[in-house]
Amino acid sequence: MATLIPPAPPKAYDVIVVGCGPGGSTAAYHLAERGFRVLALERHRFPRYHIGESLTGVAASLLSEMGLVDEMAKRAFPEKTGVKVVGRDAKSEFFVPSLVPTWQVRRDEFDTMLLERAVAAGVDHVHGSVKRILRDGERVVGVAYRASDRPDDLLQEARARMVIDATGHSALMSRHQVAGVRQIDAFGHQIAVFTQFENVLRDEGPMGNNTVIFYAKKHHWAWFIPLSDDVVSVGAVVPTQTYKQIADSPDALMLWATENINPELTRRLTEACAVEPVRTVRNYSYRIEPYAGPGWLCVGDAHRFADPIFSFGVAFAMCEAVAAVKATEQALREHRERQALDAYVAYCDRGHEAAYDLIRYFWRFPAFFPFQVQGEFRHDMMRLFSGDFFRDEEIPALDAMRTSLETFDAADLDDGLARSI
Ligand SMILES: Cc1cc2nc3c(=O)[nH]c(=O)nc-3n(C[C@H](O)[C@H](O)[C@H](O)COP(=O)(O)OP(=O)(O)OC[C@H]3O[C@@H](n4cnc5c(N)ncnc54)[C@H](O)[C@@H]3O)c2cc1C
Repeated sequence: MATLIPPAPPKAYDVIVVGCGPGGSTAAYHLAERGFRVLALERHRFPRYHIGESLTGVAASLLSEMGLVDEMAKRAFPEKTGVKVVGRDAKSEFFVPSLVPTWQVRRDEFDTMLLERAVAAGVDHVHGSVKRILRDGERVVGVAYRASDRPDDLLQEARARMVIDATGHSALMSRHQVAGVRQIDAFGHQIAVFTQFENVLRDEGPMGNNTVIFYAKKHHWAWFIPLSDDVVSVGAVVPTQTYKQIADSPDALMLWATENINPELTRRLTEACAVEPVRTVRNYSYRIEPYAGPGWLCVGDAHRFADPIFSFGVAFAMCEAVAAVKATEQALREHRERQALDAYVAYCDRGHEAAYDLIRYFWRFPAFFPFQVQGEFRHDMMRLFSGDFFRDEEIPALDAMRTSLETFDAADLDDGLARSI
């Protein structure tokens, strides 16, 4: 077991950010821009692989606020103008344009770019893994971490007035019993397998850069996300129960998915060859409550993730990061921590509940979804698909979907009654 002997007096920061994915680096950058002394700890040496490659319009707007539009162009990330959903057996399809043009990203490069932006703004970055949370009574006052540049096993301490947990699925604060226990959410008990292919068929012209979602049946679907002129990320999602019945390994599930999820996916992959190993993630749908308290708060996947179907994850982590910066500023400069954290939690909950209901509606009423997208709610739906869930204002499309869901719940109808696309 590691011993805790700080080799030098622990350095004091205003804020420690743990985890340098999109949530952590966005928070660290904005905090440094506001004059806070920030330490950002990341356990992996970047660049490193990460899933979550399709951005929404809201993420594009936040990147623009960080002055990163030219950087994005320099890296030639494919420009995304919307999402195409191909229905069961490829008998139908609909397209949702993005309100704000955005990008598909190779996360190794994207996350490195964000971290470099934070460092350029004055953030101290240490490659190290946080192992303990330091507390003074109820209050979180710092972390103990193992820095990669230390040859020994000693943990180092860093102290701060606020610690932001942006550790993604690792959910540091929950693991250390600071935040609540992880609860599996409604879209839990699913498995995603994914890899990258070359030599695939894509739509012609700029449409060829867009995300394509292939629907099979409830909770059985696949994504197709172009990452460059040559490479496309392809993933498939099925309930864990289905996986056990149809395949004995992630590779076998991937093969099954390319042949069985949707004939249009099969057609596009006829000549394809995989250029990455097949990776897996399961039971990724969860929530953790509480996720903020004296001296700490969680951002992004560190407290909640629902369902990857509409690619909201990165935008959500970045939106919450910006809100976390506001809350931190109020807590540290105006000494209104309690109110600031309450407002932060209300903001995050509003966004997550809205996205959750949109996704729930999609899985319950897939046949009606194209009408929502193409009918009177078209603009609302474009807004929601952009990841714009957090504003405190009414969204008529969402109200209508919630009414349908409530009626459905009240009548206690079986999910099987909902027809597929
Ligand atoms: C199957 C699937 C497909 C998805 N597809 C999309 C998509 O197309 N588009 C989209 O927007 N989102 C997608 N997502 C969601 C997206 O991956 C996440 O929502 C997003 O990466 C969350 O960002 P984050 O900053 O909260 O966490 P992360 O990006 O996970 O970053 C957390 C960081 O914390 C670091 N860390 C963890 N523990 C420690 C520690 N103890 N000490 C130091 N560092 C630590 C990790 O190494 C990591 O770098 C998908 C998710 C899944 C499961």
